[in-house]
Amino acid sequence: MADSASAAPQNVAMTPFMAQFFAAKDKHPDALVFFRMGDFYELFFEDAEKAAAALDITLTKRGQHGGDPIPMAGVPWHQAEGYLQRLIRQGFRVAVVEQLEDPAEAKKRGAKSIVKRDVVRVVTPGTLTEDGLLDARAASLLTAIAFVGEGCALAAIDVAGGAFEVGLVDPRRLADALAALHPAEVLVGDADSARDPVKEAIAACGAALTIRPAIKADPRAGARLAQTAFEVTTLDGFGAFAPSELGAIGLALDYVMLTQAGAAPRLSPPRQMAAGGFMAMDAATRASLEILEAMRGGRDGALIGAIDRTVTAAGGRLLAEHLARPLLEVGAIRARQDGVAWFFDDSLTRGRVRADLKGGADIARALTRLALGRGGPRDLAALRDGLKAAAAAGARIASANRPCPTLLGEALGALDLSGVGVAGLIQDLDQALGAELPLLLRDGGFIAPGWDQALDAARALRDDSRKVIAALQQRYAEDSGQPLKVKHNAVLGYHLEATAKQAESLMQAPLNATFIHRQTTALAVRFTTAELAELDARIGRAADEALARELALFKVFAERAAALSAPIRRAAEAAAILDVAASHAEFAADVGACRPEVDDSQTLLLEGARHPVVERALRREGKGFTANNARLDGEGQVGPRLLLVTGPNMGGKSTYLRTVALMAVLAQAGGYVPARRMKLGIADRVFSRVGASDDLSRGRSTFMLEMVETAAILNQAGARALVILDEIGRGTATFDGLAIAWATAEHLHDVNRCRAVFATHFHELTALAEKLAAGGNAHVRAKEWKGDLVFLHEVAAGAADRSYGVQVGKLAGLPKSVLERARAVLARLEASKTAKSLGDLGEALPLFSSAPEPAAPHALIAALAAIDPDSLTPREALEALYALKRLNTF
Ligand code: ATP
Repeated sequence: MADSASAAPQNVAMTPFMAQFFAAKDKHPDALVFFRMGDFYELFFEDAEKAAAALDITLTKRGQHGGDPIPMAGVPWHQAEGYLQRLIRQGFRVAVVEQLEDPAEAKKRGAKSIVKRDVVRVVTPGTLTEDGLLDARAASLLTAIAFVGEGCALAAIDVAGGAFEVGLVDPRRLADALAALHPAEVLVGDADSARDPVKEAIAACGAALTIRPAIKADPRAGARLAQTAFEVTTLDGFGAFAPSELGAIGLALDYVMLTQAGAAPRLSPPRQMAAGGFMAMDAATRASLEILEAMRGGRDGALIGAIDRTVTAAGGRLLAEHLARPLLEVGAIRARQDGVAWFFDDSLTRGRVRADLKGGADIARALTRLALGRGGPRDLAALRDGLKAAAAAGARIASANRPCPTLLGEALGALDLSGVGVAGLIQDLDQALGAELPLLLRDGGFIAPGWDQALDAARALRDDSRKVIAALQQRYAEDSGQPLKVKHNAVLGYHLEATAKQAESLMQAPLNATFIHRQTTALAVRFTTAELAELDARIGRAADEALARELALFKVFAERAAALSAPIRRAAEAAAILDVAASHAEFAADVGACRPEVDDSQTLLLEGARHPVVERALRREGKGFTANNARLDGEGQVGPRLLLVTGPNMGGKSTYLRTVALMAVLAQAGGYVPARRMKLGIADRVFSRVGASDDLSRGRSTFMLEMVETAAILNQAGARALVILDEIGRGTATFDGLAIAWATAEHLHDVNRCRAVFATHFHELTALAEKLAAGGNAHVRAKEWKGDLVFLHEVAAGAADRSYGVQVGKLAGLPKSVLERARAVLARLEASKTAKSLGDLGEALPLFSSAPEPAAPHALIAALAAIDPDSLTPREALEALYALKRLNTF
């Protein structure tokens, strides 16, 4: 977003304001500059034009530059958050220029001096910290990709929450790794931005891309930056980082500093991503499984919407992270399950802990704002309430007197705040903060009386003076014989207000010696007196003093919190862990879910499994969900490796496929699954191709997209993957489609050798499944009853006996004539079916090499065949003849 306003035109006389503006623009040429002028943020030149269009605000002009009027647009400062949000959503970044001093300070330097201003931060999608700009239940991550030599690493910072992770990535898996993090913004050095894996990964994840100079990803500079930021002389205490990891750390940290204008947000030190890695899923799989977001948008129709029972925003974010990055290590999964089990077994403690946590607030985000100097009184209260709630939840668990599994035990350790100074901070905040807290720091009034003597003294002076004013009002009323009222406004300060009639006498001698006329408006005449003016000044001074004192006290608290950020963050994380474990247990108790048995085998066994989202939707309509079983085995011993599912449209095939994949995701995330029983050999990757959707924005038709995604699966799925494929080969001619589906099923079975469930409408494929050594058939049951089709949604062994497309068409309300015609055509087709030859194909692999596709008859021949000469009138016969001539292309 280069901008012509980025450089100040040469040789043009500039007002001091414009000089300040251009200085900011030069520092951040690709950002819109929000330039603070009193109560407004103003934008100039092209920035103003862009913002006016993007925000639908008025574009006006202000002053001149080089002889031309300067285009200007402005937004009120107190509404800036809403406007910023809209700009960020539209892909802009914004440099915020603030006034760094009081106008009175500037005046002291001379009448013509202007207020000092500078960029205080750059607002970008990945560096947001304000509640109003953030989604409470989703982390907004900033990620950085760095290549050094052969190595490639990915760093991820949650600026608002303070978490910092880094890990090595196989460049071929970069897209999956990025999809798992779902970042808001991706940083990459300019030299690396042209690499294919980077381009693909960024296109697939849809995050904003920010290209930085390559030097910012230098490993040595990265190490130095991290040492300074975390105040250590070596990073060894945090782990052994590869050069590319240091590059990514540096790239990310440098950008955070740049956007926060040098302020350090007190991040946790970089933590290496799970050593065992995560279940890989590409962006298409995540979208089609609707894990965090439904296809039509929002959480409600997604897995997370159905299972989330967390009571805190941080818990909600952690659950989303777990679902986005299911684990691969059996031990780590079991550790999470043990936590869930603990809560599952004790509903009373679970309820209490959840109630404790619910009373809290978002500790991590409040802490970040405080550490960045962007916090307010309510952030201090959030810290206090959040920590109190977290500590109460910890104490509740400890007092349950049941042995705690490791995960909970560690959380309890982090929640014991007694020895680490945090308890003192909470106690002090309890006493210091008032009951009613203003949103803005500068409104003051948030420190309770009795906390600070100097503050109390300043306030007393201010309030006593107010009492004096009340006494003055009475005296003036007596002296003048008029019921005068003392009023206050920003322009005149304290003054007396009189009606026009009262004013007449005040302006006469002797009263005019005391009452000095200041202003006449349509409604009132305003006066002051020497005493009133003096008092006004005194009250102003006392109020300023009280506010200054409050701000100083606030700063002390903010600094104390920042200094304790490590234990505070640990406590916040521990509370989120408890919340997530209790949420899984609550879900399990709500809907009936079981603890999956995970191991390193290659089986997947489900008994009585239900799709959590579909079940919930049906329940809302008062309908039940039919639970189903599944049995797959990569070794082909206790079940097929490739299961082919047939059955009518609307029968429940897609739902069944998704259930299998979602159960694996949920189980490896550490949760309980809605089933009677589940046994799962860990899947290292899940692939899903379910349902067709165009991706026209990327120039791919439905069929092309289907083929691209199928190719990705066939090229990448290893033996430990789990693949679900729905309706492959539907978007093209029947024979092409069948051929592709057939070859795909064979490849999965013979080459990929992974567990796969394949739903299809091609009945011809069921013969193949029977012939494959580790293949199997299942079908969703339906029956015809009084000429109508009834779906049973039950998955049974064996192939479906027939398809029911025409019956489904009837249910959908196709006109009767169309249905009758379709039945007739179907009968014709079935009579002349090439099914036999297709069934035979399995005998003679490779399959289609010798099976030419039968050519469709020429239109002329088809039309000729359709003519019944005996039934034609002479006129119709003539028309038919003309029609045949038109069809003749020989
Ligand atoms: P198509 O071939 O047309 O894509 P399908 O066989 O894949 O259809 P689904 O989309 O899975 O069918 O299911 C259709 C509808 O049937 C679902 O929206 C749901 O309402 C219902 N359904 C699916 N499975 C079940 C089940 N196990 N129990 C109850 N209802 C179900």
